[in-house]
Amino acid sequence: MKTINHIYINGQFVIPHGNELFDLVNPTTEETVAQVQLADVEDTRLAIAAAKAAFPMMRSSSREQRMDWLQQLHDAVKSREVELIDTMVEEYGCMPVFAQGTVNHAIDSFMQMRDVLARFPFETRVGNARVIMEPLGVVGLITPWNGNYGFIASKLATVIASGSTAVIKPSELSARQTALITECLHAAGLPNGVINIVTGRGDVVGAEITRHPDIAKISFTGSTAVGKTIARGAVDTLKRVTLELGGKSANVLLDDVSLEEAIPLALQVMSWNSGQACIAGTRLLVHENRLEEVKAQLRQDISLLEPGKNVGTAVTAQQYERVQAYIRKGIEEGAELLCGGEGRPQGFERGYYVKPTVFVNVRNDMTIAQQEIFGPVLSVITYKDDAEAIAIANDTLYGLQAYVSGKDVQRTQAIASQLIAGRVFVNGVYNEPQVPFGGFKQSGIGREFGTFGLEGYLEPKAIMGQ
Ligand code: NAD
Repeated sequence: MKTINHIYINGQFVIPHGNELFDLVNPTTEETVAQVQLADVEDTRLAIAAAKAAFPMMRSSSREQRMDWLQQLHDAVKSREVELIDTMVEEYGCMPVFAQGTVNHAIDSFMQMRDVLARFPFETRVGNARVIMEPLGVVGLITPWNGNYGFIASKLATVIASGSTAVIKPSELSARQTALITECLHAAGLPNGVINIVTGRGDVVGAEITRHPDIAKISFTGSTAVGKTIARGAVDTLKRVTLELGGKSANVLLDDVSLEEAIPLALQVMSWNSGQACIAGTRLLVHENRLEEVKAQLRQDISLLEPGKNVGTAVTAQQYERVQAYIRKGIEEGAELLCGGEGRPQGFERGYYVKPTVFVNVRNDMTIAQQEIFGPVLSVITYKDDAEAIAIANDTLYGLQAYVSGKDVQRTQAIASQLIAGRVFVNGVYNEPQVPFGGFKQSGIGREFGTFGLEGYLEPKAIMGQ
């Protein structure tokens, strides 16, 4: 069986000191297809030391030099686009179209940040003071499994643009994708030590990055629970943190909405990456007068979601079991199952496939309406008027994303302005790569992408007097 046994430190592929092996299981066949040798604390410290040594060079690099590096990174990743997509589909059991989107996002991230860098004001004046935006030093990038390339690329692009150096700790579930994108990043030919990649356990490598005094900032994307652990651990050294965490996004359908359009969209946004997306629209808020129509439309359109064709697998057996437990919990708590339910979809004897599932008669205080399920499970909740729709939408610990659909522009905009979420999509889904991304409340701290993202990786320094 293939063993992935290299990590990337100071421009070299090296064998980890760590000797723990982690099985990589194909989620469509449930077979173990490879193993990864995980990095340990010693490997992490070496990576941090390499990044620290490279920082003075990086700090003094010019804007033009960093723009060239971003171009080189873009070209190197783009040159292996097809392999990147295939590896992602194999490793996660996701649909090729989702993998294509993730790879495009990764490739595009470098050019988007290059564009921001080209015009970013690193020096401004406030009164008689010169205010200079300085890089932070070594930045720890801790990323989740569900879109590995995109998170690595977008965070790394920002680090490079800011003039810092990076120690990246991707999810161990993404080891094959990480091995491939590491080859691309190496081929881009940046100076040694600027990029270091250590795949290991969160509570080993991630914890060392969190506590190490030479890490100036952590940019983390993952669950709210781990985000809190990192925030707590970062306090002792007062590291800066950007936290991109979970969500339980509301999708508000106004009473004048066209259900022929809104229901297929609702099913699409709840089932992105088999529902394993932080921005998945998992609570569908519908006016009580339209509930029967909504149910009929959902029963008809659920066939648009076809496991194996446009809905992939849960990522692991554990995640599959978690989703099943949430479905049981929904029934126990009195929600009514409209479509789907427990067990594999018909025709699947193997693989972590989940039935696309819709619950109606859901109250917003039920477990399935409050917790992030990370599977294709939709909760339909009714409201009486716009004010109640807003109150229900905002009655959550999270605040990452929200969706609104309706015919009256004034109403949709008024509702969008009252939803507590980092992004609100009105009457559709949009891709604006430089728009800030991040959450209110327990969906996180800080923003990524574009100018807002870059500012989070810089520290203002004021120089006064001659
Ligand atoms: P996770 O929190 O389990 O793991 C994320 C990363 O943190 C992994 O690399 C993991 O190894 C590491 N980690 C685990 N324990 C750690 C510790 N004690 N210290 C430091 N690092 C540690 O998340 P996941 O299952 O990989 O991803 C799914 C979660 O990520 C979902 O909750 C989802 O909503 C969230 N997510 C958020 C966004 C966003 O942008 N807001 C995007 C994608 C995913």
